[in-house]
Amino acid sequence: MQVPFLSFGPQHEPIRDEVLAAMARVYDAQWYVLGQSVADFEQQFAAYCQVKHCVGVANGLDALHLALKALNVGPGDEVIVPSNTYIATWLAVSYVGATVVPVEPDPATHNLDPALLEAAITPRTRVIMPVHLYGQACRMTDIMAVARRHNLHVVEDNAQAQGASCDGGRTGSFGTLNATSFYPGKNLGALGDAGAVTTNDEDLARQVRVLRNYGSQQKYYNEVVGHNSRLDELQAAVLSVKLGHLDAWTSQRQQIAALYNEALQGVGDLQLPVVAAGCTHVYHLYVVRTRQREALQQHLQQRGVGTLIHYPVPPHLQQAYQHLGFRAGQFPVAEELAQTVLSLPMWPGMSAEQVQQVAAAIREFFPA
Ligand SMILES: *Cc1c(COP(=O)(O)O)cnc(C)c1O
Repeated sequence: MQVPFLSFGPQHEPIRDEVLAAMARVYDAQWYVLGQSVADFEQQFAAYCQVKHCVGVANGLDALHLALKALNVGPGDEVIVPSNTYIATWLAVSYVGATVVPVEPDPATHNLDPALLEAAITPRTRVIMPVHLYGQACRMTDIMAVARRHNLHVVEDNAQAQGASCDGGRTGSFGTLNATSFYPGKNLGALGDAGAVTTNDEDLARQVRVLRNYGSQQKYYNEVVGHNSRLDELQAAVLSVKLGHLDAWTSQRQQIAALYNEALQGVGDLQLPVVAAGCTHVYHLYVVRTRQREALQQHLQQRGVGTLIHYPVPPHLQQAYQHLGFRAGQFPVAEELAQTVLSLPMWPGMSAEQVQQVAAAIREFFPA
């Protein structure tokens, strides 16, 4: 039996009629951009994140970019980013012309280490961008305390952690503005590209609304040099349906993680996910670490088990960021993670048998 890295089947098949009916309503409404479906979804997702406002945009990268733009972050400003993240976090900072200041993660949780923030803050620092990597909430209470002490904004990258929480607060609710992605493979995924900004600040929500729609609030009157980055009606309608199932899918992910934890405890040199006190993990990805990552991945592939590496090259060593002049060895924790992490199959509806099959193939790899 093959175990793919990701399968949409068990998630999408049971809601097929519900989703197609929602799409048919958009078809019949004959209003395809910025209509009732987007307004409804924005309200629902804001409530889900426990914030006052949600602004739907075209994708997660735009959500990050427009959030920084709404805060007037630009050339000369510094933005603290994790040294180990998907490159989108860094790209948003580059788009506004600001400077990335990477900070290393806690090697256990893979999330931004709040204890290292203060040393990275300078008079030019404007924003801290924590990323809830793999679905685990960062220690937001600690990060917010540092931000308040230094009068900095926080922009959460919540692309991987919809529904996670820290000390009872939802991810996407802590920062001044927060970004998320509904890329199909994310925990709440559209059937194409989509994203959103969440915030409690009415004025900033309005600014993101203007920025996403050509800098315009009133048709054909443009206040600022805006973008075309709108969440479309079809995706919003699909997302509203899927949001109703998100908590059930999250608990399935957490059950699968618990099965992995039990089956893989003490196997070889494997390091299993560690969840920080007060934080929850919604397991967008179930990531283990081993010094024999390449060989294990190959072994699993031969046994029909799909895996991926998130991510093989940290942003500072990407060709795209050569011009910033970072060197190998400069962010050793991120570099070590890039060489040792491996993401195991994880999706809502994955069966206990499939989890056991993956675990058995891993145990077989490591000598007893
Ligand atoms: C997916 C992702 C993004 C970007 O989202 P898109 O919708 O693909 O633009 C940003 N940050 C992180 C951490 C992500 O995982």
